[in-house]
Formats: sequence, structure tokens, C-alpha cells
Amino acid sequence: MNPKPAWLRKKLIADPNQQLVEDTLAGLRLNTVCREAGCPNSGECFARGTATFLILGDVCTRDCRFCAVRGGAPSAPDAEEPERVARAVAALGLRHAVVTSVTRDDLPDGGARFFAATVAAVRQTSPAARIELLIPDFAGDRAALAAVAAAGPDVIGHNMETVAALYADVRPQADYRRSLSLLSGLAGMNGGIRRKSGFMLGLGESRAQVLALMEDLRAAGCELLTIGQYLAPTRAHLPVVEYVRPDVFSEYGDIAKSMGFLGVQSAPFVRSSYRAESAFERL
Ligand code: SF4
Repeated sequence: MNPKPAWLRKKLIADPNQQLVEDTLAGLRLNTVCREAGCPNSGECFARGTATFLILGDVCTRDCRFCAVRGGAPSAPDAEEPERVARAVAALGLRHAVVTSVTRDDLPDGGARFFAATVAAVRQTSPAARIELLIPDFAGDRAALAAVAAAGPDVIGHNMETVAALYADVRPQADYRRSLSLLSGLAGMNGGIRRKSGFMLGLGESRAQVLALMEDLRAAGCELLTIGQYLAPTRAHLPVVEYVRPDVFSEYGDIAKSMGFLGVQSAPFVRSSYRAESAFERL
């Protein structure tokens, strides 16, 4: 792959807020997907005083070929983690808290009760904060999904990550239809929850496949959409096939809006939790 184009070079940001976020997370022994996944926006988001909490450890039971989070055998969940997330949300004064997890296929409910407990803890200490959950597929377990929905987060997101044709290469332990049905399954569970998803460009997908994916997401009731450029975390991960130009992102964003998505972020550095607060407020 050629060197990164100019639009993928990020300016370094130095801001005292970054240290405040780092210290808060370290003091409460919390992980973030910002750090574990090597997100290119971490300097910017930490400077804005935000981060996305990664619960249930920093070791994933799956082995997606795009993701920097390490795989292996995770340790037992920490029953006090939901309370520590709530303390961090309060300490950082977050108005919109985003919580995600590694995939825990080793747990009977995939970790759903920890998502629910985290929502309850944050609601108790920061009742005005909105809560956005980015959940794994819970191996298709509807009871697990229902437990998370019953906790009453404001947004539930589940990322499709890529088009159907690339699932075997990109997410070998996931299933395109299962992920879609997770989003559509939320319809009858809690009508007030906004549904969100995201995917990456640059893995070799075609335009027709991208349009089909967006149509599938709308049919599943998804209202919020994020589209960003795939960047290979290391040489051991899937290589980038294409650095997609910003104008192509803009065009997909416009198409998504015309399909009926209410909130769309489409640009090379967009990630599912990137400026999640302002994306929600535009609804
Ligand atoms: S975009 Fe999301 S994952 Fe990346 S640094 Fe910002 S909050 Fe963290």
C-alpha cells in the first residue's frame, strides 16, 4: 500500500485535558477502546475531555482481522467495574457517556448483565447523562439483548464493520445476518432507544456492496450511521486496500441521509464513538 495520503495525517494535539482524562482512567483502573484499539482520534477526544469506556477487560475472545484489541482468554469480570465507570463519568462531567466491551463468548450472557449494571450505575450517579452502548453480537442471544435494552440506554450501537461479502475475511467469527437481526430485534424491546451502526471503507468493498449494506441497515431500523477509513493497526492485520477520498465519504454520507438515516457521520477519521454527543444532538 502506498504511503498515507495528506488527508490521513493528523496534527498532534497537546491539551491539559488529556492528562486529566488519563489520570481519571488510571486512577479508576478503567480501559478505553481509544487506547486498546489504537484509535487515531485519542488526542483529540481526550483533549475534549471524553473517552469511550471498554468494559469486561482488555482481552477479546474473538480474532477479528481489523482490530487492534488483543485476543486470548480473558480474566473473570470485575463486579465493581460498573461502579468505577459511573465514578469516571461523574468525575469527567460527561453529558454523553459511551461504553463498549470486548466480545465475551466465554460468558453465558456475553457480558450483557455488566452492560445493564453499568447503565444503572451511571444513571444513579449522573442522572442527566445520556448513555450510549456499543455492544457485541452476544452470539445472537435475544435474552442478553433484551437485558441490555431493559436497562434503558439512550442509544444502542452495533457495528457491522464491513459489507456482507467481506465478513469471512474481516470478521470470521461474526455473521452478517446475525448482526443485522440484533439491530432489528431491538424494535420490539424498548421503543425509545436509538439504533446506531458503523462500518469501514478501504477493505476492498465495492460501491454496490456499500449501498446494499446501508439499505440493509435502514431496513433493520438503524437511525445513526458512522462511516470511517480502515487503518491497519499492524502488518499482521488485514492490509488497507484503498485510502478512500474524502469526497467519496461525503457522497456516501449524502446517500445515507437520502435513505432516511437521521444522523450520519462519514469522513476518514470517523469512528463509531467519534463526537457521539454531537451526532446524537443533531437528531
Ligand atoms: S473516536 Fe471514540 S474510540 Fe476514538 S478516541 Fe474518540 S472516543 Fe475514543
